[in-house]
Amino acid sequence: MMKVTVLGCGPSAGVPALKYGWGDCDENNSKNKRTRSSIVLEKSNTSVLIDMSPDLRQQLLDYGNSNFDAVIFTHSHYDHVNGINELRSVFFEQERLLPIYAAQDDMNNIKKSFFYLFEGNGVEIYKPYIEPHVMEGTFTIGDISGICFEQDHGFSKSRGIRVNNFAYSTDVVSLSDESFEILNGIDTWIVDCLSLKSVKSTHAHLDLVLEWVKKINPKRTFLTHMDTTMDYNTLLKILPENIKPAYDQMTILV
Ligand SMILES: [Zn+2]
Repeated sequence: MMKVTVLGCGPSAGVPALKYGWGDCDENNSKNKRTRSSIVLEKSNTSVLIDMSPDLRQQLLDYGNSNFDAVIFTHSHYDHVNGINELRSVFFEQERLLPIYAAQDDMNNIKKSFFYLFEGNGVEIYKPYIEPHVMEGTFTIGDISGICFEQDHGFSKSRGIRVNNFAYSTDVVSLSDESFEILNGIDTWIVDCLSLKSVKSTHAHLDLVLEWVKKINPKRTFLTHMDTTMDYNTLLKILPENIKPAYDQMTILV
């Protein structure tokens, strides 16, 4: 068994968003308050954080743990990496480096933006904090083994992650035949569903996700990266029984 915690299921602007406020989302329903997307996987003695959102500090205060064996990055967009500084003090205290896993192109981007976390600057309090691991195909981190696969994210790529019968596919607008093959046979899927209607060429919307679910046929699907058009209770009413919107700090066993 593996425990999955959704730290955040919001879009890059979060819900409420600075520009759109709550939009169509009922502000009295706390499940509509969405921080930027990230999850945690826990199995036996291993816990892996997937993505470090700009909301990471508050997410981990709510979650109650900030000690991870590693971080996997799905891609290097700001809403998935900008929390990278937040665990520095935790790892400095333990005198160990934080292993991060990312595809080569994403690792290059992260290194460019946060070079000082990789190199330090020769002073004791600014020593390196990151241990980079380039991720291609399969990976093993303690008790958690999985496979990453390429996803089309519009003008760039992201990586989906499959661990046993669970898969996480954030920030995706189309999937190749190879990716569908890797997703074949999963029981539980957390998938990008930015909006009710198609508005962007970088993210899936509801009708597209429904098509994918028909094709892959997982037992349970949870929607993530949801914007202000995606009211929690409205979605519960219109979605089939096996598809539900995620919410921040939701936990599932897979
Ligand atoms: Zn994103």
